[in-house]
Amino acid sequence: MAKIKMTTPLVEMDGDEMTRVIWKWIKEILIEPYVDLKTEYYDLGLEYRNATGDQVTIDSAEATKKYGVAVKCATITPNAARMTEYNLTEMWKSPNGTIRAILDGTVFRAPIIVKGITPYIPTWTKPITIARHAYGDIYKNTEMAVPAGCKAELVCTDENGNETRKVIHEFTKSAGIVQGVHNLDSSIASFARSSFNYALDQKQDVWFAAKDTISKTYDHHFKDVWQEIYDNEYKEKFEEAGITYFYTLIDDAVARVIRSEGGYIWACKNYDGDVMSDMLATAFGSLAMMTSVLVSPDGVYEYEAAHGTVQRHYYKHLKGEETSTNSVATIFAWTGALRKRGELDNLPDLCDFADRLENACVKTIEDGIMTGDLYTLSKLENKKKVNTLDFLRAIADRI
Ligand code: NAP
Ligand code: MG
Repeated sequence: MAKIKMTTPLVEMDGDEMTRVIWKWIKEILIEPYVDLKTEYYDLGLEYRNATGDQVTIDSAEATKKYGVAVKCATITPNAARMTEYNLTEMWKSPNGTIRAILDGTVFRAPIIVKGITPYIPTWTKPITIARHAYGDIYKNTEMAVPAGCKAELVCTDENGNETRKVIHEFTKSAGIVQGVHNLDSSIASFARSSFNYALDQKQDVWFAAKDTISKTYDHHFKDVWQEIYDNEYKEKFEEAGITYFYTLIDDAVARVIRSEGGYIWACKNYDGDVMSDMLATAFGSLAMMTSVLVSPDGVYEYEAAHGTVQRHYYKHLKGEETSTNSVATIFAWTGALRKRGELDNLPDLCDFADRLENACVKTIEDGIMTGDLYTLSKLENKKKVNTLDFLRAIADRI
């Protein structure tokens, strides 16, 4: 068989630990035999990030802007323990945070659904994709504990030194706590545009929710920015695509999500997205079956798995012990990126290959061949737990 040709390179961001091991195997066993793979390689493994003063992360994000599509392996975000483990010169920031800041994107997370692993909510027959706004609110807050007798005020000073004040609370009898949060029109607008673009890409409805009845300025502003962008830039495109934009109160949204069958994009404010994405990942089964893509408002895509570097499995692997690590979300990061490259470069064979590889993953699990994480969840009768490599080989048999 002639290998499928690519025209534009994919930006390839390698990573750490067990996912770095899987990364290499996925390429060797599942992709390179079929695709004449063209990538621009960036090593985001912690050692090389440290050696380059994290410049490689910035370079990889700039390359993503240039080419439009990237695929990323999970990476270590250093903490104190990693400082000694890797002998780091600095506690480098999260690569995902750095890349997100450069691309100004929104993260979309969607579960991969397979037969035999039923969601805790039985009506959820289609995936629910969460779009989490990744800027501001309580994640960039200023807060204080205050003693009794204090008056807390919100003060805004303009360029000319004029102050606008509002009393938050007079702490006459009891001590208490205060918090200041903010968001930016530009960031809210990027969030809305990324979500609308992704919806058009996926041909799925978008739901967005806030607490505008209680927060009449702050949350209401989110609602207004979204509505204005929808009306001016997306309404016609949505009507043509036969999809809808739906705004409701956050509590109403939660109730509707539980009753729904899935199959839409749920855009969430920062905190709602943090909480609800963990609920959805658990309810759909396993973190190892959750895909993640960062979409910038100008249409740049970076695909990855939602899980981390699976450190515990890596230490077993280093000791020569057998592991049973699930590679599905990382494979779907590759297929997502290859399909997007195929769409942009008009290479139907590449898109077709991405479909085949995804179907092969699903078929493998539905045939009862699976890794340990799924083995404990699957309700199939004839199921078999296999090791990391044998799982990849079983997928290869089914492409
Ligand atoms: P993790 O790597 O997601 O793993 C947590 C646990 O979830 C694992 O120990 C494993 O459970 C299970 N698991 C996750 N992915 C799995 C897979 N593919 N197959 C089978 N089981 C899987 O999270 P972590 O241990 O908290 O973090 C490890 C490192 O990853 C950290 O250094 C963190 O900074 C980094 N991280 C990176 C990203 C990213 O790059 N996007 C995201 C999150 C975390 P069992 O051990 O019980 O089998
Ligand atoms: Mg969370």
